[in-house]
Amino acid sequence: MFLIQTSARPLLCQPLVIANRSYLFPPPSTTETDNAAQSTSSKSRCTEGIRARRTRILSSKGLILVGTAFIGGTGIDELSEFSSGKRFEVSTRFGRVELVESVFGNSNVFFLPRHGFGHCVPPSLINYRAQIAGLKKIGVTRIISLSAVGSLTPELKAGSFAVLGDFIDMTKQRQATFFDEPGSPVVHTDFSQPYCPELTGALVEACRTQGVHFIEKAVYVAVEGPRYETPAEVRLFASWGAHVVGMTNVPEVVLAREAGICFAGLAIVANLASGLTECRLAHDEVRGVVAASGKTVAAVLKEAIVLIPTQAKCSCGENAALVV
Ligand SMILES: [Zn+2]
Repeated sequence: MFLIQTSARPLLCQPLVIANRSYLFPPPSTTETDNAAQSTSSKSRCTEGIRARRTRILSSKGLILVGTAFIGGTGIDELSEFSSGKRFEVSTRFGRVELVESVFGNSNVFFLPRHGFGHCVPPSLINYRAQIAGLKKIGVTRIISLSAVGSLTPELKAGSFAVLGDFIDMTKQRQATFFDEPGSPVVHTDFSQPYCPELTGALVEACRTQGVHFIEKAVYVAVEGPRYETPAEVRLFASWGAHVVGMTNVPEVVLAREAGICFAGLAIVANLASGLTECRLAHDEVRGVVAASGKTVAAVLKEAIVLIPTQAKCSCGENAALVV
């Protein structure tokens, strides 16, 4: 076991409260293991094999292995880039998760369908802790979260993108921390920079290169759902300076930071929120808009993934207190 000391921020930018203590982590693998040599006969051995493969920068097939995962929901989980690949399962003390390991561009990535295969888990019942812990367990260090959202401003129309810069948490009944078990340490995580600046920068540059209509530094309001928002709620959220509203992203972003994983959010606008349009909101419409944006989404992600610095210089990992 390695003893890792969490580090304090520079004095000029001290967070209000930071737990500055030591945590025990499992040792990182130092063995390069050939993919084909890994037995898939047992789930635990499969997981260990994947963890070992994260230690290589370039595989024998020339694929870049960067420990990157995409989390996707409505409409995104139907894209062929994500639905094809090798399915596998990871067990954590918070529950089990199913993922896909696939080739994306010239990179080897993981895709986690947050609503499960078949889109059967509503936003409030998603086991977010198992999902983030599962990604941590297989060695993921970077997550790009994709979500369908409603627009809070008429200028941001359906099919537009929003690179997230901040969030407002209006959820009500979700487990938004890993550290609420008896005997677990009290952890107050700094969120003065909610999303990873390096991943976010890569997404912004990729959106520009691909010529998509998008805004950056977007403020995301996370609501509990599964119902859509009322017109009064939409007016309130817009008056707060928020740009988009959705039912996921929180607590994903919170748990990823607690786990020390870089996290960025790319939202696809599916419609104008209630009160901004005469149309009634329907889930099928949301799926259709996002699915129609599939090729653009894939192009942006393929562009972004090669722009991510090989060596992270951000501070997302400073509070990596999660033990998996
Ligand atoms: Zn980061």
